[in-house]
Amino acid sequence: MTRTVVVTGSTSGIGLAIATAFAARADNVVINGFGDSAEIEVIRTSLEAAGGKVLYHPADMTRPEEIADLISTAADRFGGIDVLVNNAGIQHVAPIETFPLDQWDRIIAINLSSAFHTMRAAIPLMKAKSYGRIVNIASAHALVASPFKSAYVAAKHGILGLTKTGALELAEFGVTVNAICPGYVMTPLVARQIPDTAKARGMTEAQVKTDVLLKAQPTREFVKAEEVAALTLYLASDEARQVTGTHVSIDGGWTAA
Ligand code: NAD
Repeated sequence: MTRTVVVTGSTSGIGLAIATAFAARADNVVINGFGDSAEIEVIRTSLEAAGGKVLYHPADMTRPEEIADLISTAADRFGGIDVLVNNAGIQHVAPIETFPLDQWDRIIAINLSSAFHTMRAAIPLMKAKSYGRIVNIASAHALVASPFKSAYVAAKHGILGLTKTGALELAEFGVTVNAICPGYVMTPLVARQIPDTAKARGMTEAQVKTDVLLKAQPTREFVKAEEVAALTLYLASDEARQVTGTHVSIDGGWTAA
């Protein structure tokens, strides 16, 4: 069965790997996120290789009206939405007392509120079909904290609450809602925060990789974006129909400690 899949923040990193995994099954996929328009068009056409249709929508996840348009455009184009993956996310690293106010607002908007807005718009469509899969890409930081990441940790803890609430509201409608909690995946989001973390902690960038990032992960290896995508495919599968209202960690053992 060809499904319609919306993946927010899928022009890069984990979201791109998730969009790629669904497109490889010939699902219809709506990609979203920022980037160079020519590069996005190359991504879009390459994802169509397996036979599904791929649409790009430029909604800014800080803007509720653009998010509503993303969902309605996907539904109009493909006749509904089967799978919603809330993946868009950003990071800013600074102590609480000097954390920039605009960065706090932006992180809460993109990493938490955008998932509320997509779900709010997509849930009636999923209820109408008595079928749906919602996967929220949270983080190990949804379960544990790290210093200097107040907004990110708060947003990621919040998305687990949203996940559980959605699961309870939709339990009798054939719609599951789950979260994935990855450890560190070497994407542009992580690469960008290395210089800031080095500054905040007075370390070299090499020390941040070994003594901060991979120190938290007992396997001492980065998670691969494709591995997060494979887990997303599972949560979206028929076999996962009784998996709802929970999170799955993929963090090299980080949160076992
Ligand atoms: P990334 O920077 O590679 O990709 C982020 C994507 O979000 C990009 O497509 C970007 O254009 C998009 N985006 C950013 N702001 C947006 C906005 N306002 N509107 C629409 N799109 C926007 O990051 P990533 O590492 O792939 O992160 C993806 C998700 O995975 C995030 O929610 C992140 O918190 C989560 N995560 C990442 C890691 C990691 O180690 N990389 C670990 C745990 C969780």
